Amino acid sequence: MKDTKPEKDWQEDWHHENGQYYCRCVHCKEQFIGYKRRVVCKECHTSLEKASTMMSDKGYEVGSLEDIPQRDGWDNWKPNKDIG
Ligand SMILES: [Zn+2]
Repeated sequence: MKDTKPEKDWQEDWHHENGQYYCRCVHCKEQFIGYKRRVVCKECHTSLEKASTMMSDKGYEVGSLEDIPQRDGWDNWKPNKDIG
């Protein structure tokens, strides 16, 4: 049974071979389903991206987001637990 929130799931990942893992978001600590190396849910990802875009437009440092892994740094991420 699925107990994650649809707005946090990466539904576009689900057709990938490893795209339906239960992951825990490092930001809101809630579970979501997505690619096994994802560590941020879609909801947080969207809001963080908005925030960082706003901040970079104004030239601010994104210091408060330093614990969030880079989107392109998947090779350094720890794999999440397999659903099955
Ligand atoms: Zn989240």
